Amino acid sequence: MPRSMEWLRSFIVPGGNFFGIEWNVWKAVGWCGNAVFFSRFLVQWYATEKRRQVVVPAAFWWLSLTGALLLFAYALFYRRDSVFIFAYAFTWIPYVRNLVIHRRHAHAHTMCAGCGVICPPPAKFCMECGTRLRTVEGCGAAP
Ligand SMILES: [Zn+2]
Repeated sequence: MPRSMEWLRSFIVPGGNFFGIEWNVWKAVGWCGNAVFFSRFLVQWYATEKRRQVVVPAAFWWLSLTGALLLFAYALFYRRDSVFIFAYAFTWIPYVRNLVIHRRHAHAHTMCAGCGVICPPPAKFCMECGTRLRTVEGCGAAP
């Protein structure tokens, strides 16, 4: 084996373990939690760059919730560490609340009967054609 390959091998599988980690099911759960939790940052950054304004998409809260629950399970069932358990025991509350608010906001949009434009919740008249919007909620689609 060439010397460079030997170095790469010792870097990726030191001591015969992938990245030097002693793997088991709970390690995989914990690392999945880390990966999911980290990915939310990329999703939020992408959404913000795309809209050219700070945006927090619903996917961010789903990834936060999933990552936090995986890390909570890892802390509770594998690490059994009170500090770690407490750190993830309650984070799901704002994540779920933000998902509920996201959903309510999306459903509160109203589609204009005159031109089909989807108008945000506080609007009483269409921002495009001025038609009075129906007060029935939930007829518009999510933006
Ligand atoms: Zn309209």
